[in-house]
Amino acid sequence: MSNPMVTTYSLWSQFRNCRKGCDYRYLQGLVPISKDANLSFGALIHECLELWHRERDLAKVLDHIDRAYPNRVQDEEQKKNRHLATAMMTGYAACFAEEKFHVIALEKGFKGRIINPSTGVSSRSFTIAGKVDGIVHLEGEYFLLEHKTASQIDSGYLERLWTDFQIILYAWYVRETMGIPIAGIIYNILVKAKLQQGKGETEAEFEERKAELLAKSKTGKTSAQRKLPESDADFQTRLAVKYAEPGIFQREMLYISRDRYAVLQAELWELTQAFLEARRRGHFYQNTAFCFHFNRPCAYYPICSADNPANVIENHYQVTAPHEELKNTDDNSNELAF
Ligand code: SF4
Repeated sequence: MSNPMVTTYSLWSQFRNCRKGCDYRYLQGLVPISKDANLSFGALIHECLELWHRERDLAKVLDHIDRAYPNRVQDEEQKKNRHLATAMMTGYAACFAEEKFHVIALEKGFKGRIINPSTGVSSRSFTIAGKVDGIVHLEGEYFLLEHKTASQIDSGYLERLWTDFQIILYAWYVRETMGIPIAGIIYNILVKAKLQQGKGETEAEFEERKAELLAKSKTGKTSAQRKLPESDADFQTRLAVKYAEPGIFQREMLYISRDRYAVLQAELWELTQAFLEARRRGHFYQNTAFCFHFNRPCAYYPICSADNPANVIENHYQVTAPHEELKNTDDNSNELAF
């Protein structure tokens, strides 16, 4: 009999959202050749937060950011992200110079069984693995620490946190595989400031603006001067002010009830059965209602919408191993710092 297939939250989430996307990513191994800049930025901030909570050395964090953007002098995107990450982490370190919680583990990996809740028997087809951002101890209870970067935090964002299937699943498996009774989750939310570095005016733009001002001027004169590009130091100062504002970093605590664990187990088992059926029949259907779910096209939209999908796959996708999120996982349970 073949080994059980290792699955992750991302696989089950993709299967739940669109089976076809799950087939492309986890059975065919396809990923777009071009990277999503938002995902890369989020991944860097996760690394910085791990480093900060592990060593509490801001200089090391800023050095890590600099090394992540080696071409920032020539590459505008790298320069922009380096500015943002630097200001975000500097502000974070100042805001959370002292923590009330004690860190038990960071980037902690788990591997567990998927169990049929009706019989208590483990699946022979699937196991599950994952990695939690952190496990912390606060006032006698254990919590998962979950980092999130968000473009804004409003009441809708906070209200949607309870729907976070991933973190309930992780809490359950930390409890089952490490024996740590997780009481809830501390969401550690960092807002991405929308500020842009001032580009200044070209000579032509300045002349056009000056002409408009002169046309409106009663004296026929204007003191307007050409706007120069904002220096890196000035932009960092402006970002620093933004990252000192209240609400730019938020911590939200959510307790998990036993009922939610029961629902999770039942749903996970249902998903495994639906996956087996889809694989047996060789049919992973498309959920076209999901193609633009995150206000941008799904990573597989070019394939699904193409007349010649094979050509699109050959030119714009590469085959990579699944479960990239499990890379650099700390699997050594001896390192729990109780
Ligand atoms: S483009 Fe739409 S149908 Fe195709 S995989 Fe993505 S969500 Fe599914």
